This record gives sequence, structure tokens and C-alpha cells, in this order.
Amino acid sequence: MDGYMGKILCVDLTAGELRNEPVNEEYVRDYVGGSGLAVRYLWDLVGPDTDPLGPDNPLLFFTGPLTGTGGPSVGRFTVCARSPRTGLWGESNCGGFWGPELRFAGYDGLLITGQASKPVYLWVQDGRVELRDASHLWGQTDTYATQTAIREELGQPRAQVMAIGSAGERMIPLANIITGHGRAAGRTGMGAVMGSKNLKAITVRGTGKLPLADPERYRELRRRINRELKEHPRSIGQRMAGSAAGAEFFDMFGSLTARYFTRGQFPAVGQVSGAAMAETILTGISACHGCVIACGRRVAVTEGPYAGSEIDGPEYETICGFGPQLLIDDLAAITHLGHLCDCCGLDTISTSGTIAFAFYLFDQGIVGPQDTGGLKLAWGDAEAAARLIELLVQQDGFGALLAQGSLALGRYFGVEELAVQVNGQEVAYHDPRAFSSMALVYATSPRGACHNQSDYYMVEFGQTDDELGIPLLDKRQEEGKAAHVAVHQDWRSVCNSLVLCIFAAVPVSDVVALFNAATGREWDIAETLRAGRRIWNLKRAFNCRLGLTRANERLPRLLLQPLADGPTEGYVPDLDVMLREYYAVRGWDPETGKPTRETLAGLGLGFAAGEFT
Ligand code: SF4
Repeated sequence: MDGYMGKILCVDLTAGELRNEPVNEEYVRDYVGGSGLAVRYLWDLVGPDTDPLGPDNPLLFFTGPLTGTGGPSVGRFTVCARSPRTGLWGESNCGGFWGPELRFAGYDGLLITGQASKPVYLWVQDGRVELRDASHLWGQTDTYATQTAIREELGQPRAQVMAIGSAGERMIPLANIITGHGRAAGRTGMGAVMGSKNLKAITVRGTGKLPLADPERYRELRRRINRELKEHPRSIGQRMAGSAAGAEFFDMFGSLTARYFTRGQFPAVGQVSGAAMAETILTGISACHGCVIACGRRVAVTEGPYAGSEIDGPEYETICGFGPQLLIDDLAAITHLGHLCDCCGLDTISTSGTIAFAFYLFDQGIVGPQDTGGLKLAWGDAEAAARLIELLVQQDGFGALLAQGSLALGRYFGVEELAVQVNGQEVAYHDPRAFSSMALVYATSPRGACHNQSDYYMVEFGQTDDELGIPLLDKRQEEGKAAHVAVHQDWRSVCNSLVLCIFAAVPVSDVVALFNAATGREWDIAETLRAGRRIWNLKRAFNCRLGLTRANERLPRLLLQPLADGPTEGYVPDLDVMLREYYAVRGWDPETGKPTRETLAGLGLGFAAGEFT
């Protein structure tokens, strides 16, 4: 099976058993790798009775056939399970060096079940595998220190470590998993699933070669595509200013939201943008394995209350979440808040979203000092935000409410409709009032509100794609957009299966050529998109089996309130119009939103049809 290592490591933590299993060739053929392969495996293993934080919820770490090849921005992998955040499909995509190292160690993925009787970490080295005691690491709050401690303990300075922090240990559903220089499997609470298994970390080291079908052809393609990618204007911008390079641009369109989604613009955006970082606290850049873009930031704050040593700097979502959303205009403070989350192992989007919601409720008089333990939550107060992160991780008082996320917080105070989330997951910082497509993207994402299952806002900015047949339409257009969003989702399903970074502006035909050179297949774009559609529909079927209905697909109230001024003034997207079209395009029942039997059968998913229709 060219392109794949051919085996996965199955770990039963309850029994302490470790065994190799050949990767299922039929699944690989139809689902590519990464999250596509993961949903096919999890389809057989997860049902409505599976407790997301119980021993029966398998936790999968899957690479793709391009992971570690040095191709364009493909040093990535996915972490998947039933999500404790949403109760639905859980998926998180992560960079760094861990995924390539797992492949070099001989595995396409890990399938972890059960629950260890005491804290452990997994050590994988060139096919040799071992569970080791992690009792001395449990309770060590810093995900960075955990990585260092394990490397030193093993005497393996080049080993790659994925670790949970105190948030994951405490099974907080906002918990992520951190590796390397601040790379996070951030969304859907995968850190909590890992914590529920008493699994502190997974460490990998490998020296093997990747089995490419046509290494010569792959090398040629990789060289040219990496060269072109490096010179692409978007890559240059990201290298210079990180993923927040577009902050001012997003703000100009009203896409960067502020004051918990109640303002369409942030006047101080120039103080917190990627450009501002480059001019003030930036000390260096970092890249995931083999990536020529290098969007990672190294920063050092040298004066003021947040002065300290060099750390990883915030990316766009963290900046927006802890900056404009809280009306904090101090980049040093935002950096500090992001770093607190990285150390504890918290998803910065969901954490900032929940904290900004608390500020909003305080502002509205729904939450008061009597609820927060006397803490005043005034817009712009970074110290109060930092205190809330501490309380959240400790699950102390008001923090215990925050730890369950914004939907639970809203429910507690009787205002759940005000929480800006979809299916329990906080909305990322790309306002659908700026780009109508994002209403559909958020509503139909299989993992709750998500901008990575389709970053269609980039299309609305002008990043159209002739090869995918995706044109530039008016940003407020609703009719006629759903079909293009669906194609884009299918394409991103392929990217999340290969696993390719969505920041990489690589032509579709080049990605398909790389895939073919790696695996020996002869797919064209249509066949590749068909695989993406299959994966998207199986994730949909997975969610329908877990109880997702048409009623789940709605936007929170605040996103349906027009803003009085700014670039989005007076506009809210009509989600119903787009959803009606979308269901028709997808071949889903217009009343229930479930894929029809014909749709599933046409994609080779007939096995899923009887499970929920
Ligand atoms: S663009 Fe950034 S996140 Fe994506 S692979 Fe490169 S360094 Fe990693």
C-alpha cells in the first residue's frame, strides 16, 4: 500500500495491551487518511451509548499519506473521537513535528481505548512501544515542562511529545493537546478525552523512510510546489506577520468581531494585528515540519506587567478572542492570555469565547459580582480575564461554570440563546454578517461551529478556485452559494485527510498530483472531490446516529442581530434560504437534514443507511 506505513498501533489502556494491526486497505482506499480514515474507523466503534469521557470512546491519532513527506505544509495529523464538547463528531487538526515522527516510527495512526488505572504516557520508538508511569507528571500544569521532562527522562532530545495540561487531566471539555512550539489539537475537547484515559502524553521517535509510490516524481513536484508556495503573496504575508497578517483586512470587512460579537469593528486593530506584533514583540518565526510558510511566532515582552522570557506568540483566533472580543488592545496582555491557555492545555477559541460571554453577561447585568466571587468583569480588563482562566482550570466557584463552556454558562443563567456557539462549540472569529457563507459553514460543520471544515471566508475575500468551479459571489448573496460551499467543504475534507494545512495556497491539481505520486493512484479532481463528499457524508451520518437533527442547524441569536454601524451594518444572513439549497445539493432530506439512502448508496456508504434513517 504505497504512501502508507501499513499499520496502526492499538492501545488498550485498561488491559495495558499494545498491538499492531494492519491498516484497513479498503478504508484507506475510500477515505484517504487523517480525519477521513478516522471517521470510517470510528463508525464501527462509536454509538449513541458511547460516553465521550468513558473508556469505550476510542481516541484516534491519524496521519495522512502526505504527512512528513516535506510536501507543501503537510506535517500534520488529526485527533478524533466522540467529542465531550458537542457530543458529536470530534476532530482536531494539528501541526508541529509529532505526526511526521509517528510515521517515521512506522505507524499511520494510533487507536487508543480503555482507561489506565494510573497516569501513564505512551512511548513509541521505531516500532517499539511501551506504556510508562506518568504519576510524577500528572498535576504538572505546564504542557511545555511536560514535554521537556519526558525527553530528558527518556534521554531522547529529538523525540516529539504531545501532552495534555491540567485542563485535560481534569477532563474540562475545552481542553486541547499541545505539541512542540505551541501547536495544538485545539477544538472539540480532545484533551479531555485523553485525560479521561489517564493518558498524560504520547511520545514518538522514528528514523524510518516513507514508502512513496514514485519518489522521483514526488520530489520533483514537492520542489516546484514548495518554491511556488514560498513565493505566494499569502505565504509571504503569513511568514512576515503570522496568521494575524490579515487582521486589519478582516476588520475592514467587519469579519473580525469585537465585544462579544456585538461590534463589527475594532478601532485599535492596528495595535494587536500581526503587523503590530512584527513591529513590537516578535523575536523569531517557527514552522511545522517541512513547511515553507512558517506562520508560527516567537515573541518576547520586555517591559511592563507581562515582561518575561521568549514564548510562542498568538495566532489570529487567539488575538481576536482575547483582544477585540474583550476590548483588550494590549498585545502583551493578549499574548499572556494565550500563553496561559497553552500552558494549561486549553483551546483558545472556546476559552476566549466563554470568557467573553461572561464579560458580556456581566455587562448586561445578568451576571454580577455575587456570581463571580466578587470579580468585576469590565471590558478591556486583561487581569480579570487572566483570573477567569485560572478559575476555569481550577473549576473553582464561577470557574466551574466556565469550564463547561458558554452554552452551559448561558443555560445556568437562563439565557442559553445568547451563547455564541453551534452544537455546543464556540464560534470562531469570522462573522457571518460579513460573509453570508459563514452562516452555512458554521451551521453545517460536523464538529460544531468551525471555520476549518471550510474556510469559505477566504473565498469571499477573493481566493476563488477555478479548478473547483468556485467563483466570487457577492458577500451578502445567499441564493446560489450553497453548492459552492458544499464543494469547498468536500475539498477541505480531502485536505483534512491528506493532511494538508488550510493556510497553504496550493493549486488543487497540484495537491492531487502529490497524492497520486505518493500513493500510486490515478485520481483526477472529480474522483478526489468524490472522496471528500463521501467523508463529509459519513461524518454527517455519524452525527445523525448520535442524535443530530435539522433543529441543530441554527445560528445563535447574537449573530442574527444586525449591527447598527460598521461594515456589516443592518445585514444578517438568511440561513434558511441557504440551508434549503444546501440540503438539495447534498441530497439530504429537507425536513430532517439526514442523508437519504440514495445519497449514501451513491457514495458507497450504503452500510450507514440503516443506522439512523
Ligand atoms: S502554515 Fe503555519 S500552521 Fe500551517 S503547516 Fe505551515 S507553519 Fe504549520
